[in-house]
Amino acid sequence: MKLRYLIILLTLALLAPEGMGQTPVKLKQKESEIIIPRLTKESVKSLRGVPGNVLDTIDTQTPGVQIILFENKTWKYYRDPSHASKSDVFKDCWDTDAIDPYHTVMDSLPDRISIWVADTLSQYNCPRQIRVYSKFGMRHRRRHQGVDLPLKKGEPVGAAFSGKVRVSKFYKGYGNLVIVRHENGLETFYAHLSERSVSPGDWVDAGDRIGLGGSTGRSTGPHLHFETRYRGYAFDPQWLIDFETGELRHRLFVLKKKHLSIASKYVPESEEEEDEIHAADSAAYDAAAKAAAEAAAARYYKVKSGDNLGKIARKHGTTVGAICRLNPGLTANTTLKIGRSIRVK
Ligand SMILES: [Zn+2]
Repeated sequence: MKLRYLIILLTLALLAPEGMGQTPVKLKQKESEIIIPRLTKESVKSLRGVPGNVLDTIDTQTPGVQIILFENKTWKYYRDPSHASKSDVFKDCWDTDAIDPYHTVMDSLPDRISIWVADTLSQYNCPRQIRVYSKFGMRHRRRHQGVDLPLKKGEPVGAAFSGKVRVSKFYKGYGNLVIVRHENGLETFYAHLSERSVSPGDWVDAGDRIGLGGSTGRSTGPHLHFETRYRGYAFDPQWLIDFETGELRHRLFVLKKKHLSIASKYVPESEEEEDEIHAADSAAYDAAAKAAAEAAAARYYKVKSGDNLGKIARKHGTTVGAICRLNPGLTANTTLKIGRSIRVK
């Protein structure tokens, strides 16, 4: 949920003229709608690349978050990796060798784990858009803990989400393996690579190359073995990604404990379950949209010499009480400093 609040904060930061500091760009109310996260009913498309050359980067009031301006006059949020990578997620059970560094007891996990997988600040890239060749589940009495996605040797493999590389190493079975840990706690595995392009500790964004396709390790031909894990437990990646269309099934992914088992193959969810997930997601969306709309309607006023709250209230057709409610810490008796920005609507 942390990212959600970040978006709300960003909206506030962008719309408060005082917050712009030295920034040359002021977004209009209409543009503010762009940063409202999408509903999950529209699946999240795989994103790759940037729309042209970078023209400029602009700081926001949220530490570690910048706006990148492109030559074609589009823009996007950018999270400074050096900031994101300080998250505790990348300290907890951090091991650059172990396949499962967590050793989490299954009983300690809740029945449902809600995970934000994509939003304005964290995008998604389908590791390979193709029909799954070999599915998750038991195979010749062996646990097949991921999906096999055919690809040619030497074809670039991109990270599914942004995150920090935890493992980049050769293993007998996996061959060349890269494991990326994501801020939401998920880990993604990319195995049988002919070449690894990253080292432990490297930050990758969704779509960044982590290696090249291959057939190293226990493999009978070039393919990408892709795993998704939570606290060391693998679950069928198809719960999360529709590999045929390349789309993420949900922005808010509700991982069920029962899916953390080799016996839990992906089956399309019942209509009831789908509705439940969408309801939860829509509620989160509505809350973000409401906050964004409120922020968009906000108006600020810079205190001038001779101003007092009563005067400012009259000027903006509001009351002293209403202004105080909009500005935490502000009371009718507060001495107003000249130049202070206060919210009036
Ligand atoms: Zn496999």
